[in-house]
Amino acid sequence: MIICHRMYLASRCLERGYTLDEVMPCVVSQDGDEWTIDTESEFYPRVSRLPEPPPVEQMPTRSAPGFLEKVRNFATAAAGHVAAGLPMASDEEIIRRHDICLGCEHLQNDACNLCGCPVARVRGYVSKLSWADSECPVGKWSKATPDS
Ligand code: SF4
Repeated sequence: MIICHRMYLASRCLERGYTLDEVMPCVVSQDGDEWTIDTESEFYPRVSRLPEPPPVEQMPTRSAPGFLEKVRNFATAAAGHVAAGLPMASDEEIIRRHDICLGCEHLQNDACNLCGCPVARVRGYVSKLSWADSECPVGKWSKATPDS
């Protein structure tokens, strides 16, 4: 049993190929963002179910990152966001960033095709646009002053 910020579980899900909804039964209780998680539960994302990447010599050359790399990018960004104390951008900044993404050639299926992060005009832990410490991978928008 562990007590941690909900971002911890969200990060584990991203790293290991689960959705938050399917692992929620392992959450024993919630006190705001502080969740008690049963790590012995069959629903806890203990092991990765993502396929192993092929050996380096077999990896195809490509210009855009693949699915696994994008998942890792987002997981890394999420971990950094947690380490930074979860600073959030203002609603105005989220809207400004979202408008920029909507006009970007790298936006595909509501996600950034370069970093793999979801692009949504929402304030929350799964929206990189709402993290004050995040930035566009090609510099179209940058870190913002935390709002909270
Ligand atoms: S984060 Fe940057 S590169 Fe990605 S969709 Fe938004 S503006 Fe485009």
